[in-house]
Amino acid sequence: MPELPEVEITRLGLTPELEGRRITAVTLRRPDLRWPIPGEIAALLPGELILGLRRRAKYLLLDLAPGSALLHLGMSGSLRVLDRDAPAGRHDHVDLALDSGKVVRFNDPRRFGCLLWQPRGETHALLRDLGPEPLSDLFDGNYLFRHSRGRQTSVKAFLMDQATVVGVGNIYAAESLFQAGIAPGRPAGEITRPRYKRLAEAVKDILAHAIRCGGTTFRDFIRPDGRPGYFEQELFVYGREGEPCLNCGAILRGNRLGNRATVWCDHCQA
Ligand SMILES: [Zn+2]
Repeated sequence: MPELPEVEITRLGLTPELEGRRITAVTLRRPDLRWPIPGEIAALLPGELILGLRRRAKYLLLDLAPGSALLHLGMSGSLRVLDRDAPAGRHDHVDLALDSGKVVRFNDPRRFGCLLWQPRGETHALLRDLGPEPLSDLFDGNYLFRHSRGRQTSVKAFLMDQATVVGVGNIYAAESLFQAGIAPGRPAGEITRPRYKRLAEAVKDILAHAIRCGGTTFRDFIRPDGRPGYFEQELFVYGREGEPCLNCGAILRGNRLGNRATVWCDHCQA
């Protein structure tokens, strides 16, 4: 599943192809993805200048004068820039033709992605209740400490809650808690401010590292057979239950927490 780093890599890769270009045509090969594609997409996009491409959580916002096209890659989606005459495959659902002679093509075999419309000056319902961006200054140890007081939920579930902070999926939660030395099942409300400071720094380090790693292989990612680079990132705990801890050699424990697979080291995390 595309995680925040992959969406950010997509944004960084697409921006030079899109910014300042005009959309000449929209091709919708089906009426819906996860949800119906609203009429505004076909009606309003042609002729519009692309002002920019933003990311909020795992959503991409293609900014135009009348509003923004809101895209989510879902479980299996990808966006590529191709020559206009590149033949469309079975799962190529949407094309945005550009005045550069290229098309932005949205491919999504499982169709959990979406393409929606956000009028100018409004915030789409999907974006309203999201917490801060993990790489922004709004997210730090003090923020985590304040928002966790009185919370009995596990620190891992608290960190993965999109109302706490966006874009920290299962892989990044497990790896950040390991780096910060915090046991994932510990109640969020019990963790001290200094430990939350380490956790916020770990989240930022790991996400920024994943973006840098993915960035180095972005040219592969935009090819039809492309894979994102972050899968090759070294993982300390995620997916390593029963294997030795890379820090101390103890056997890593595994459990399900909030219905998500969780792996940690009893020796390094408390
Ligand atoms: Zn260990």
